[in-house]
Amino acid sequence: MNYLAPTTVEEATQLLSQTPSATVFAGATDVIPQIRAGRPEPETLVDLKKIDRLVSVASGDSGWTIGAAVPTVRLTENAELGQEFPGLVEAAGLIGSDQIQSRCSLGGNLCNASPAADSVPALIVNEARAVIASGSGTRTVPVEEVVTGPGSTSLAEDEFVVELVLGHPAPNTSDAYFRLIPRTEMDIAVVGAGARVTLDENGNCASARIALGAVAPTAVRVPDAEAALAGQPINDETLAAVAEAASAACNPIDDKRGTVAYRRQVAGVLAKRAVKAAAERAAQGAK
Ligand SMILES: Cc1cc2nc3c(=O)[nH]c(=O)nc-3n(C[C@H](O)[C@H](O)[C@H](O)COP(=O)(O)OP(=O)(O)OC[C@H]3O[C@@H](n4cnc5c(N)ncnc54)[C@H](O)[C@@H]3O)c2cc1C
Repeated sequence: MNYLAPTTVEEATQLLSQTPSATVFAGATDVIPQIRAGRPEPETLVDLKKIDRLVSVASGDSGWTIGAAVPTVRLTENAELGQEFPGLVEAAGLIGSDQIQSRCSLGGNLCNASPAADSVPALIVNEARAVIASGSGTRTVPVEEVVTGPGSTSLAEDEFVVELVLGHPAPNTSDAYFRLIPRTEMDIAVVGAGARVTLDENGNCASARIALGAVAPTAVRVPDAEAALAGQPINDETLAAVAEAASAACNPIDDKRGTVAYRRQVAGVLAKRAVKAAAERAAQGAK
């Protein structure tokens, strides 16, 4: 197996266009276990962590730029990021263990394309965009356009994600992410639910975004739940509508972690809780 470690985005795109069968990696917390489990070994592995831009985190006037290969521990330890995106940081802090989080990245979590990836619903509700590089330049797409199905993405063979960009949250806005796993840690979500809520001056919901993980081939938005909240107070009635819409948006599988019926029910419960937590944070001014 060849190991290549480019130090610039341009060098990496050049290597990838010359070696179409190469596999890029960041933390390798998915890549290595998958090879050990019998997936064919890539002839060439391209390490993205030596590229400064991919391991940088910055906040500026227009928002945050998070390098695709930044180990997630650097996100969970970033108080300013946690203040603006508590739900996203919560999701990043649920991935594996301390050891995993010292290696794993948001770019890898997204591009591994697991339906149960914890950070993806949280990225979607926060309108994160992925900056994607190839030999012909860069393009920027909403994160929900990256994953196309279990293990598959819309990226061409010579493309990779350079960074994730997020605008600063509007005033009176916050987010939350909850997941259910069968044990206390180190397991994959049976269901994950992310929500972002913006409150108006009366404390009603001005707008909301809700996304679910592990209930369909890709993470799913729940537009009916978002519509049920828009312009409404957040109370038992609207939260019941959120739960109903979230359960209806699921297209889950039966597996050892949960049946279809169980996943539908849990999706409703977690969506409701995520909305409530995001709204409470927004009300406390925890942007
Ligand atoms: C013990 C254990 C526990 C885990 N627990 C969880 C969990 O609770 N929740 C969860 O969501 N995941 C979990 N995972 C899975 C994994 O840790 C995460 O998906 C992690 O975020 C992957 O990041 P990485 O940088 O290690 O990815 P890598 O393994 O480096 O890459 C993963 C995939 O993405 C591709 N890739 C990586 N970076 C890029 C890029 N910049 N552009 C394009 N493609 C790219 C790679 O080619 C590969 O296909 C766990 C894994 C282990 C081993």
